[in-house]
Amino acid sequence: MPTFDYAPAPESRAVLTLQPSYGLFIGGDFVEPTSGTAMATIEPATEQVLAEVAVADESDVDRAVRAARRAYQRTWSRLSGSERGKYLYRIARILQERSREFAVLESLDNGKPIKESRDVDVPLAAAHFFYHAGWADKLEWAGHGPDPRPLGVAAQVIPWNFPLLMLAWKIAPALACGNTVVLKPAETTPLTALLFADVCRQAELPPGVVNIITGAGETGAALISHPEVDKVAFTGSTEVGRQIARTVAGSRKKVTLELGGKAANIVFDDAPIDQAVEGIVNGIYFNQGHVCCAGSRLLVQESVAEEVIARLRHRMSTLRVGDPLDKNTDVGAINSAAQLARITELSAAGEAEGAQRWSAPCPLPEKGFWFSPTVFTGVAPAHRIAREEIFGPVLSVLTFRTPSEAVARANNTPYGLSAGIWTEKGSRILWMADRLRAGVIWANTFNRFDPTSPFGGYRESGYGREGGRHGLAAYLKGIAL
Ligand code: NAD
Repeated sequence: MPTFDYAPAPESRAVLTLQPSYGLFIGGDFVEPTSGTAMATIEPATEQVLAEVAVADESDVDRAVRAARRAYQRTWSRLSGSERGKYLYRIARILQERSREFAVLESLDNGKPIKESRDVDVPLAAAHFFYHAGWADKLEWAGHGPDPRPLGVAAQVIPWNFPLLMLAWKIAPALACGNTVVLKPAETTPLTALLFADVCRQAELPPGVVNIITGAGETGAALISHPEVDKVAFTGSTEVGRQIARTVAGSRKKVTLELGGKAANIVFDDAPIDQAVEGIVNGIYFNQGHVCCAGSRLLVQESVAEEVIARLRHRMSTLRVGDPLDKNTDVGAINSAAQLARITELSAAGEAEGAQRWSAPCPLPEKGFWFSPTVFTGVAPAHRIAREEIFGPVLSVLTFRTPSEAVARANNTPYGLSAGIWTEKGSRILWMADRLRAGVIWANTFNRFDPTSPFGGYRESGYGREGGRHGLAAYLKGIAL
């Protein structure tokens, strides 16, 4: 068989006009931070500085929350649902029109392959605005009581793995329900949120309805503890989620927490193996494994384990790791030096505890943060790599003999965000789904997202749902579902 090489196919950066520095988006304008402090955001594939962004302190947080409160009282909560819906449609259309710009910027700032930002992140972000635009004038029929009312000002803090998509998950339902927002993106990926601020202006969204402030954990902590905030929506690590739960306990703030995961992707011996292997690869190597619901534990039935692992390694050898802007790249850069250090440390722990490591033999660029797609076999349930969220392209393989054992192993985790089942038997899918403790369960597919479908976890994966009719409850006063 002849082998083919891929010629470079880089997406052009020319669609993008990056400013050297960005202020805070408060009350419809970019303003300087009170302290005058800034931080750099870098391109993880090259370690080059992309731009400087402002660091918001407590007084900036206060300005942003006040702007959101004013906009809530004077305009947004007084508009009819159909008027709010028009703005959301407008935002969705602008996101589509500017999709190349957003995709390139997301890949530069985050490190994810352009084919993912172009085909997944940006279209799904637009879809969330379209979907919630449809709800804005139909909230009375959403099952949250006859006269559901907005909560007020929502403080929203998001992580770095899907910067624009997590913004859409937060802002679209909040606005559809009549709330105003102050959103803080993650410190390593603030740029698409700042470009989104420009979309808000282009859509002529009333000033103060959306405010975007940048900074690290201290800024986030100041935001969620501000007394004028009515709702806290957080996506991020379980550790920070716990701190937030402690901070808001006893206050009148409504809270949703979307936290970490350690999902089981379960392959039975009757599964179509090639499709399952694609699902395993998508489950853990999509977005460099920086996915809260990643299928990071492969549970494979003992009788087919050898064959599945052999085919998986073969498929992993074909993954192309490198330039995120190249349209042929499958696996991009790790988002930060800190995340690379965590992945490296946990992988070393896997070897030290006795699991066997295999990494795809792919060349890695010299500059930037990279990690080869890796699989560990011979993993025991007590190993750290079977228990802790690695949040990188590292798969841990465990085996099972019976469906009951698969359920017991899958549920042997403090998390409960997602799971996958691969089998040709519908009855087995239903039997398993009934017993798996996870918020989202995929059957013969993995990592499928849709704005109509609620997403969220159990136990240490957090509480509350985002998306679908259920997700509206997080932004409305009304009866619980
Ligand atoms: P992180 O918790 O370190 O940071 C998330 C955000 O919180 C950032 O914006 C950060 O600046 C901010 N923050 C940090 N300390 C804070 C504090 N004390 N108070 C308020 N805000 C604070 O998480 P991360 O490393 O950015 O993201 C990775 C984590 O996010 C993973 O655990 C992943 O599983 C989780 N995640 C969950 C979902 C979900 O829907 N369940 C989705 C994506 C990511």
